[in-house]
Amino acid sequence: MTLPVRETFLYAVPHSLLSRAEIGRRVSVPFRNRKVIGYILEKGQGDRQEELKEILEVLDEEPLFPEGLVSFFQWMSESEYYLYPIGRFIQSALPGGLNARPFKTGQITEKGLKALKRLPAQSREARLLLWTKNNPGKRLPSPIDLAHTLQKKGWLIIESRTDKSGVGPLIRKFVRVKKGLDFESGLQEAKGSIKAKNESAFLQAVFNADAVLLKELSARFSNGAYLVNKWIRKGVLEKYEAPVVRNLAGEIMFPSQVPDQLYDQQKAVLEIIQHRLKKRSFSTYLLHGVTGSGKTEVYYGAIEEAIGQGRQALLLVPEIALAVYMEGLFRSRLGNRVAMYHSGLSAGERYDQWVRTVRGEVDLVIGARSALFSPLPNLGLIIVDEEHDFSYKQEEGPRYQGRDAAVVRGKLQKALVILGSGTPSVQSFQHTAAGRYQLLSMPERIERRPLPEVQIVDMKAMSQDETGNGIISPILMAAMEESLTDGKQVILFLNRRGFNRVYLCRSCGQPIRCSNCDVALIYHLREDRLACHYCGFHSEPENRCSTCGHKGMKAYGFGTERVEQELREVFPDRRIARMDRDSTRRKGQSFLILKRFSEHEIDIMVGTQMITKGYDFPEVTLVGVIAADLSLGFPDFRAGERTFQILSQVAGRAGRGEQRGKVIVQTFNPEHYSIVTARDHDYASFFQRERELREQLGYPPFSYLACLRLQGNNSEITAHMTQRVAGGARGVLERWPKRGREIQVLGPAEAPLAKLRGKYRWQILIKCKRAELLHYFLKEMDAMTRKVLRGSGVSLIVDMDPYQML
Ligand code: ADP
Ligand code: ZN
Repeated sequence: MTLPVRETFLYAVPHSLLSRAEIGRRVSVPFRNRKVIGYILEKGQGDRQEELKEILEVLDEEPLFPEGLVSFFQWMSESEYYLYPIGRFIQSALPGGLNARPFKTGQITEKGLKALKRLPAQSREARLLLWTKNNPGKRLPSPIDLAHTLQKKGWLIIESRTDKSGVGPLIRKFVRVKKGLDFESGLQEAKGSIKAKNESAFLQAVFNADAVLLKELSARFSNGAYLVNKWIRKGVLEKYEAPVVRNLAGEIMFPSQVPDQLYDQQKAVLEIIQHRLKKRSFSTYLLHGVTGSGKTEVYYGAIEEAIGQGRQALLLVPEIALAVYMEGLFRSRLGNRVAMYHSGLSAGERYDQWVRTVRGEVDLVIGARSALFSPLPNLGLIIVDEEHDFSYKQEEGPRYQGRDAAVVRGKLQKALVILGSGTPSVQSFQHTAAGRYQLLSMPERIERRPLPEVQIVDMKAMSQDETGNGIISPILMAAMEESLTDGKQVILFLNRRGFNRVYLCRSCGQPIRCSNCDVALIYHLREDRLACHYCGFHSEPENRCSTCGHKGMKAYGFGTERVEQELREVFPDRRIARMDRDSTRRKGQSFLILKRFSEHEIDIMVGTQMITKGYDFPEVTLVGVIAADLSLGFPDFRAGERTFQILSQVAGRAGRGEQRGKVIVQTFNPEHYSIVTARDHDYASFFQRERELREQLGYPPFSYLACLRLQGNNSEITAHMTQRVAGGARGVLERWPKRGREIQVLGPAEAPLAKLRGKYRWQILIKCKRAELLHYFLKEMDAMTRKVLRGSGVSLIVDMDPYQML
């Protein structure tokens, strides 16, 4: 039922529909005097059919999801973990393209072309034939009866299709030297036939490489295409097609090679995983492998094993860019039985990938969070790469933590789960300590490349004039000079975009605020305006304080845009680029910047956390962190964890090539354990410290949290309703003398962002040591809150395991 109802309903299946009423298909059914759409989740026995209403119609020709997925959908919603009606849940998991039904196109035949010449030009037949000829692949104009008539005459062929643009393996043409020929003998054979001026350079280029992209040869040699054909005819070269890998900058790389041999640490870990896979049972591994330790090859080995068993694998990655990279890599090895699934695909593309997967035409699905529900019928392995990444937490619609949900899916489908990370989440690591997950470690980088040296710069000790602008310390400045003079590249990281942070009134100190949101507006130089980073509101930079009316505002703080400008002044001859959400609004822009950076057309790149993930730039020897304190200031108990992870990931960008890298971290909190342990690449100490803090304060993973967020258009009513809901919650607890003490209701409190997009926001935090008890409690509260809030204009969102308590 795609209605917002929690229950499921029984319907009778009329005889005529029996053969088609399969689990996973949609049906249309009568419901409270309306006709609605639902999903078949279960088939019952036929003993009480008389009392039931009948299904009206089965809408799908094939199932949209396999039976094995039903229990997972049920767990996600019905067990109320995420408190979301099951029909809505399934609807949100299925590809949106489902409603974009396949369409018919026509292709004109030889016979049709002849008929076209014969027929009177104004006849309906001729007009349709002409249209078909001129619009290949387009949707046939409706009604299509006439097209069917013409098909019977053999004049055109009707085809069904969905919008498939851009999906499919990336196949490119390559040129290589035929086996067994070397340059000398190749030339020998060619004696006398080298005519064109650049011909030996051309041959040299082909002989020097294992394979060259045909396109690249035509780009480098104006007569490239001619030369290729000439030497193919001579039997020296050959053309072939192969799937290629795109790197993260969108460039095409060569077909990826499986390494000849795995390193010892890879072998050891893979052996354990493969052994376990053979048992075909559920189990969870946490693969803690430092950045560059070679986790991808371990994933590959595990995927191969699962596929070899006739089962399928699911690989989740935190970012679309990484999904694209992994796709290229795995497709070049596994061929076409790989599907992609993420929100960057068009609706039609997602639909196609989904259908292929349900049909069992796919062995491996690679995708971002939304791929969690991929309808793989016989799932054997789930891998969650970079499991610590916050993007696995879904923040809209049903709010779930994709990584943790993946473990549940593994359990329900008897699949092995591997969570991989260089900086594991505190939660997953605690699970290994508690014996729920098993820990696998790969402590060394491939080829034993050393981790970069990290230096902390105390910004407190540095007075304003000494640091010049208070942005880049002399130490960082000197290190930049050195790297650049060496011909190397530099990355500067600042997790804050915009130019100036805020405009404060010189008299009363109040900032200019967004009228929809309770936050200060940020100044953007390029547009010369103030903008709200939450709702997008913007206004002219003002000079009069809206609070006290004083004329005279002062700009404070800085963002990436300001850093970029400062750098242009200090290093006028260097090529500088900025990568943040502002500079990459246009599609393809971020790929372009990364590509230019990877080709060393940029010397210094300033960016937000967009630059921290997974990229490999061997020429970068210095990474500067401008303000490590930003993530520490978050009103969130995961602030320390986030800081450690970000610093470790940023540091991982330095020294990926031959030369050892250096990282300089500027901070006002040089003694903070997150910063110190990140400097020392010391995960164990970080975890120890963080674990103690969480345990003392009773935060996850030592408790379970739910955030009830109430929002409404009216400030007083929202506050009042929140009070009533909190009172109701305490009332429920009082009726449970024993278990009631295990649950804490905190608040209500105004949310840190007390007003957002015009809505007033309050929250109630619920803490409990046992997950089941918390779920049970929330279920009990559900009816009460619905009654309290009805008609009040205040809405409630339940955020289980909240990540953004803002
Ligand atoms: P991680 O994901 O752990 O950060 P990667 O899987 O990206 O590390 O591996 C780092 C680099 O090492 C990659 O360039 C990869 O191709 C290379 N590599 C991994 N395993 C091997 C191996 N057995 N032999 C040679 N190179 C390898
Ligand atoms: Zn706003």
